[in-house]
Amino acid sequence: TDEEASAKAAAADVDSGATTIFDKIIAKEIPSTVVYEDEKVLGFRDINPQAPVHVLLIPKARDGLTQLSKAEARHEEILGHLLYAAKKVAEKEGILHGFRVVINDGPTACQSVYHLHLHVLGGRQMKWPPG
Ligand code: C5P
Repeated sequence: TDEEASAKAAAADVDSGATTIFDKIIAKEIPSTVVYEDEKVLGFRDINPQAPVHVLLIPKARDGLTQLSKAEARHEEILGHLLYAAKKVAEKEGILHGFRVVINDGPTACQSVYHLHLHVLGGRQMKWPPG
C-alpha cells in the first residue's frame, strides 16, 4: 500500500538524526490546526484524518525519541505527560466516552515520521483488530 511504501522510505533516514516535518510544525513554519499546547507537547490535527477526530500529539523536544522503541529512562516523564495530554485532547474534542490512542513504531507498523507521536482518534465507532 501507499502507507507501507512511505513508511519504508521514511525509515531509510531514521538514523541520520535529521529533523522531520514536525519540527517545522512546532516552529510554526508550516501551518497546522493546534488543538492542545503546553510547554512540553503540541497537539494538532492530522492532515490525512482517519476518523472525525484525529489529533497528533508530539513532544516539542524530540530528544532522541524518534520512536517509542528508542525510549530510555530519561523519557519516562515526557511519555507520561503525552499520555495524560491525550486524555485532555479527548476531553476537549468531546470524545472522552470512547477514543483510541495509537503509536506506530517502525516500518512494520507503518510509522512514517520519525519524531514520536501519539494518534488520538475518535468520533466514530472504532473497529478491532486495526489494519
Ligand atoms: O504513525 P505515522 O508515522 O504513520 O503517522 C504520521 C502521521 O502524520 C500521518 O497520519 C500523517 O497524515 C501525518 N502528517 C501530518 N502532517 C504532515 C505530515 C504527516 O499530519 N505534514
